[in-house]
Amino acid sequence: MDDGVKTKTHCPYCALQCGMEIGPELAIQPRTDIPANASGALCQKGWTAGELLTNGERLTTPLLHGEPAEWDVALDYVASRLSAIRAEHGPDAVAVFGGGGLTNEKAYTLGKFARVALGTSQIDYNGRFCMSSAAAASIKAFGMDRGMPFPITDLAEADIVLLAGGNVAETMPPFVRHLSGPRVIVIDPRRTQTAKLAWLHLQPTPGTDLALALGLLHMVIAEELVDEEYVAARTTGFDEVRTSLAAWWPERVERITGVPVYRMRQAVRAMAAARKAYILTGRGAEQHAKGTDTVTAFINLALALGLPGRHGSGYGCVTGQGNGQGGREHGQKADQLPGYRKIDDPAAREHVAGVWGVPAESLPGPGRSAYELLDALGTPGGPRAMLLFGSNPVISAPAAEHVAERIASLDLLVTCDFVMSETAAMADVVFPVTQWAEETGTMTNLEGRVLLRNRAAAPPEGVRSDLDVLAGLAERLGHRLETEPAAVFDELRRASKGGPADYSGITYERITEEKGVFWPCPSTEHPGTPRPFLDSFATPDGRARLVPVQHRPAAEETDADYPVYLSTGRVLAHYQSGAQTRRIASLVKAAPEPYVEIHPDLAEQLDIAAGDVVRVSSRRGEAKAVARISDAIRRDTVFMPFHWEGANRLTNPALDPTSKMPEFKVCAVRVERDS
Ligand code: SF4
Repeated sequence: MDDGVKTKTHCPYCALQCGMEIGPELAIQPRTDIPANASGALCQKGWTAGELLTNGERLTTPLLHGEPAEWDVALDYVASRLSAIRAEHGPDAVAVFGGGGLTNEKAYTLGKFARVALGTSQIDYNGRFCMSSAAAASIKAFGMDRGMPFPITDLAEADIVLLAGGNVAETMPPFVRHLSGPRVIVIDPRRTQTAKLAWLHLQPTPGTDLALALGLLHMVIAEELVDEEYVAARTTGFDEVRTSLAAWWPERVERITGVPVYRMRQAVRAMAAARKAYILTGRGAEQHAKGTDTVTAFINLALALGLPGRHGSGYGCVTGQGNGQGGREHGQKADQLPGYRKIDDPAAREHVAGVWGVPAESLPGPGRSAYELLDALGTPGGPRAMLLFGSNPVISAPAAEHVAERIASLDLLVTCDFVMSETAAMADVVFPVTQWAEETGTMTNLEGRVLLRNRAAAPPEGVRSDLDVLAGLAERLGHRLETEPAAVFDELRRASKGGPADYSGITYERITEEKGVFWPCPSTEHPGTPRPFLDSFATPDGRARLVPVQHRPAAEETDADYPVYLSTGRVLAHYQSGAQTRRIASLVKAAPEPYVEIHPDLAEQLDIAAGDVVRVSSRRGEAKAVARISDAIRRDTVFMPFHWEGANRLTNPALDPTSKMPEFKVCAVRVERDS
């Protein structure tokens, strides 16, 4: 709350949701009362977040076919076009695409708008590209997905933390303070900033994390390091998993992954000897066409070692986007209703329809997942119009050139944005909207802790909230939506009541007093649930499920035409598609351009020197970037950050069958010096 001249809020960027105060002239200071960054740390993105508010490229008037328009004119135009498209092609001809940075209030309203005002099943969000495979694996194993189901401060108590495919030292630096106590094992094809800090670094071939996890568990069983008592008391399925691992002996796993057997053994023995230990996964393990199985294999390993559901030990997913966790709980996902309920569950439909005041049978069923939706735009039977909130898929979707073609084929594209992102530039109508510190709303961070962002600054004249845009369109379509965040949150609480993500006991006042409240929180007297699995898991029998999985090659392997692996990821100075951070001068100075990281041996073989412009091609497109020569990358792999146009022209949209996560983290490319 407002503390005289300072307002307490949270960072606009990643899922750590560092606490910060905004003072006069938008000066930013870290808060020390929020556990994620109680050390007083912020990264350079957080320190410069105030500049986003005054950015000279802010949009301040609606644009209709590129021309400034009155709000009513633009809203009337969009509503009449939506009505015409729905009348001609049916409700599923209109798609809604959301974002993992939207507040819970917006994510909730977006889902209600799609299903009630538009009656469309075609809604999904960019969080599908983020951690959906880890969410699917957690639901299979534990009956519930709450990212890291423990407070981040618990990590410091552990003896050891194994981090598979996460580079927190660059993506969320204050996280590293929580790893200063335990020994850290990092699994990553690159020697990242995080790997450099680690006690042990396992550097597998891209796309082989699943084989590595199977090999580690094979070794745990062979060396009789299984926590038999825990497995017997708290899990099911161990015998099936043990049988399924017979072929994953260490030497075979070494041949597939390139990780030496002695390194695997070192990791396994250290994990088993630890009094308290965690296994965490990040995008490196998750963004694969076998992402759900890969995370399942790491969860199986954690269960065999007896970690989940113990104070000071466990498994967790290090969610990336600011509200990646809350964004998947309140109904902007194709298969879900508020409260993290399944949309095809009759009881869930009945409950949510009751809150919304509509018949349950009027609610559409599940729609297409994010990439499937983008891929279907403008095709026969696919959506003809799309409303886009908080996302920039022309940069961030896989096979981005193809996605741009599909978007260009739409009859109507409407975006809500505060700057002219690459996707907004393609839109028929752009609504200029408020951003983080200009509005109040809740965010759920990577721990499942619900936090409150307080409005700290007035938006520029002419700018409205996404909630106003949705309510304005809904009204023109004959429906009413709340526009005040507090009123939306009260409705969200009722809609979530009884669901896995039960927010009904959480209020803005409690969040402020308690510095965040963990869900599930089923009543205002309930203290919230920091560690939901201590007594039992959220499965029907209360036990965690081990599920047998098998390794398979990447969806696209290297060959004579495309002989090198490409992996993508983030750099410290930028966030996601870069629409925000590429507009902050100091961040641009720190990381001005896209680059390709190449091992010295591969660079020599390809006659490439540091600073050369390099052309990288895959079966889907081509990108140019500056060469950086580094022995931190494997000889058979190059790395490109995805914050600029280019990297995702190359990536493979092969989808994980369970979660529909695309295979961002590995594809085959050719690398040449650009002559
Ligand atoms: Fe913001 Fe994440 Fe940086 Fe914290 S670590 S300041 S939440 S971007």
